[in-house]
Amino acid sequence: MEKIKRFIECLLPVTACNLMCDYCYVIQENNRKNEIPKLNYTPQQIRSALTVERLGGICYISICGAGETLLPKYSVDIVHELLQEGHFVNITTNGTLTQRFEEFCSFEPNLLSHLHFAFSLHFIELKDKGLLQTFFDNVKRVRQAGCSFVVQINLYDGYLPYLDEIKRLCLDNLGALPQVAATRDESNSNFVLLTNLSKENYAMNGDSFDSPLFTFTMENFMVKRKEFCYAGDWSFLLNLQTGIMRKCYANGDNPVNIFENPNDPIPFCAVGKNCKNKYCVNSSHFMSLGVIPSKNVPSYAQLRNRESANWYTPTMNSFLNGKLEASNKKYSLMKKLRIYTPLRIKNFFQATKIRISRLTPNSIKSIYKKLRKK
Ligand code: SF4
Repeated sequence: MEKIKRFIECLLPVTACNLMCDYCYVIQENNRKNEIPKLNYTPQQIRSALTVERLGGICYISICGAGETLLPKYSVDIVHELLQEGHFVNITTNGTLTQRFEEFCSFEPNLLSHLHFAFSLHFIELKDKGLLQTFFDNVKRVRQAGCSFVVQINLYDGYLPYLDEIKRLCLDNLGALPQVAATRDESNSNFVLLTNLSKENYAMNGDSFDSPLFTFTMENFMVKRKEFCYAGDWSFLLNLQTGIMRKCYANGDNPVNIFENPNDPIPFCAVGKNCKNKYCVNSSHFMSLGVIPSKNVPSYAQLRNRESANWYTPTMNSFLNGKLEASNKKYSLMKKLRIYTPLRIKNFFQATKIRISRLTPNSIKSIYKKLRKK
């Protein structure tokens, strides 16, 4: 049985998209440049930087564009290289580009059991453009070829008149209701839910889908994480265009290009208790895979697979039911302190506005006492 060694959240900075959903984060951030950027590295170079040997084992690599992930042809080539390397790969897609799914389905059959699709069902845009049937045909196409998938909707107010229709379509075509993702307002840094409903009413609509993904996301929305987090070591963010690796969202100190010298070891180091985010913004990925081992949470597969309808193959189900802790060693107390202490001291100096140049032996003693108390 293959165990997950690391989780890599990859951004493909393509901002072009063939849909224009109201709630799209790219539109919210006014970031829609409609570009398909050229990669700085070839798919073969990307593979040689992400070998199983360099990463320490088989990883789950999730690829998401800022627009539609599958618009550039190179997205298929990158996935092929990573699958050949032995990794498991997820692609988040709007499910409309039939030619790309045909290309995936022509991969060697043994690679397809490692391939996972997160299909976002952008219902209104698909309906308006007459693409609903294309969407469901593409989900069925990859399923038949031996891939795993999840279909999810972003819950937002525009969908309210259509919830019954969405449920019926998914039951008829996929044998189960879609999973539900909560939609955030990312037009400013407050990160509230994108809805005019009360939180209770919003949750009631989401709950009607009986979606573990929705329940988990809502439970962890705006909950500041204070536990020791292994993001930065057991997981990281990666820009596939530039090769720049960061520990996590808002925890991007010391970014490093890991494509430039693929023979160099990667400097993994956990965020620890220093998470700068207001809450774990992608908790359904990171937390469910186990970056915070002290927190007992459902697995990635439990949040997505509709077991009654077998959305996952047995291989994928077993891999994504696993936790990162099973193939990684937790840090010793000393190692944890080495990560935690320098930041704690820096925060203390910033909060008390003490200048190091003005320190005297007596003031150092008093600071030491205060730090011990904290
Ligand atoms: S708690 Fe979540 S957001 Fe914070 S560092 Fe860990 S994975 Fe990243």
